Amino acid sequence: MSILPAPPAPIHFLDLRAEHTLIQEELDAAVRATLAEAAFIQGPAVGQFAEELGSYLGGTHVVPCANGTDALTLALMSLQLPPGAEVILPAFTYVATLEAAALLGLRPVLVDVRPDTFNIEVAAVEAAITPRTGAIIAVHLFGQCADLEALLAVAAQHSVALIEDNAQAIGATFQFSSGETAFAGTVGEIGTTSFFPSKNLGAMGDGGALFTRDPARATLLRQLANHGQSQKYHHQHIGLNSRLDTLQAALLRVKLQHLPAATAARQAVAARYDAALASIPNLFIPGRDARSSHVFHQYTVTLTEADQRDELRHFLQRCGVPTMVYYYLPVHAQPAYAYLGYQAGQFPVAEQLGGGVLSLPIHPLLTVAQQDYIIECLCTYFGR
Ligand SMILES: *Cc1c(COP(=O)(O)O)cnc(C)c1O
Repeated sequence: MSILPAPPAPIHFLDLRAEHTLIQEELDAAVRATLAEAAFIQGPAVGQFAEELGSYLGGTHVVPCANGTDALTLALMSLQLPPGAEVILPAFTYVATLEAAALLGLRPVLVDVRPDTFNIEVAAVEAAITPRTGAIIAVHLFGQCADLEALLAVAAQHSVALIEDNAQAIGATFQFSSGETAFAGTVGEIGTTSFFPSKNLGAMGDGGALFTRDPARATLLRQLANHGQSQKYHHQHIGLNSRLDTLQAALLRVKLQHLPAATAARQAVAARYDAALASIPNLFIPGRDARSSHVFHQYTVTLTEADQRDELRHFLQRCGVPTMVYYYLPVHAQPAYAYLGYQAGQFPVAEQLGGGVLSLPIHPLLTVAQQDYIIECLCTYFGR
């Protein structure tokens, strides 16, 4: 293999420090105003952020909470399902999707995903429905919507709730066959998201939110996230202490202003990767669903052999190109979930993806020279 030149500038998988430096004054002002006001819990910025995010997402109710995992927990709590009710979700996702259901004494029922989009296979969802099914959780993995039209139809047909785990696809849109479009997270009964710092809309700590178009459900979720109280010291439900800090809300108000530009920057990187990598045999670029926009939380390529993926990963590392693997182990193979009784081989696509996926750097500040270098490294590896 030929020796590659050094990268034009050190390449980071994610460069939050640089992103924040660009908007330092706005962030500083938000912090100063929050300190001056000293309303650290449920301060005005929390409501203002919820309003602004709600209108960005086409006018949905937004209920902020402490993190994306709590958002999933709160969503399921609000459905008031009987103990042991089944919750259908994809085998290829971050563990939090499953954890929320398991913690509430519900039964996670896993189904396989599609090899092209990595999103839940709707035919498998339909096959998994039983009289005990209480909810379906669709995950819009890596920034692209699952098949919301088909999922909505299945959920409606069987009278089960559709929850959208939208931690990775904030701002993505889905076009229905009617021609109508909707933002990811606003289609199902409830949407959830995370403001974990590395997410497309990230805070400077933990944060999360729920979306719903139903004002009564928004009120219930708001109560559940605040000790189940309907008014101060009056507790209508058993709830959680799961609030978004005022400081995080103030910082997120600033970050939200810059989200559309950051998303466009991610999409531009993806388009260059697509064009340069599409013709490499044995390497599959991320599949697109024509009905969904893609906000590229991750740009994830797939190799057919795990050994090859790990070898490529090491090669890129030697070139100074950091990569990540989301996710090595499908959730059914995690020791904590052995009690569900799933066997190796039961979700072949999720398992194959665990061995073959590789996420390339795609943050909004990746320069064209850095993109070219990453592409050159990949072409060199594949002898192109
Ligand atoms: C990040 C993430 C979560 C959890 O969010 P936290 O804020 O870290 O609790 C849940 N689901 C998916 C798909 C995620 O990517």
